[in-house]
Amino acid sequence: MIGYFKNIWVGFYSLLAGMAVTIRHFVKPIVTVQYPREKLAMSPSYRGHIELIIDPETKTHRCIACEMCARICPSQLISVEGVKVGKKKLPTKH
Ligand code: SF4
Repeated sequence: MIGYFKNIWVGFYSLLAGMAVTIRHFVKPIVTVQYPREKLAMSPSYRGHIELIIDPETKTHRCIACEMCARICPSQLISVEGVKVGKKKLPTKH
């Protein structure tokens, strides 16, 4: 008999605990951003994804496989391999 009432109490307590969490989140300000209508303000240090600039005249990128970007990347995410073609060095893997 004690187990029966204990189960009712535990169920009731768990219901109250769940409702407390629900009510706490119900009164908090909404954090959902309706992208693309709304946009978050980005940090000034945010640089986005890496993209090679295309030269409009030659329609190719300007990378000379100098590997400076790979050396300076703090997370070591960039790797560049290049081959020397005449006087120029062209990237084979970026
Ligand atoms: S390898 Fe050199 S030229 Fe190519 S993207 Fe990196 S820094 Fe620029």
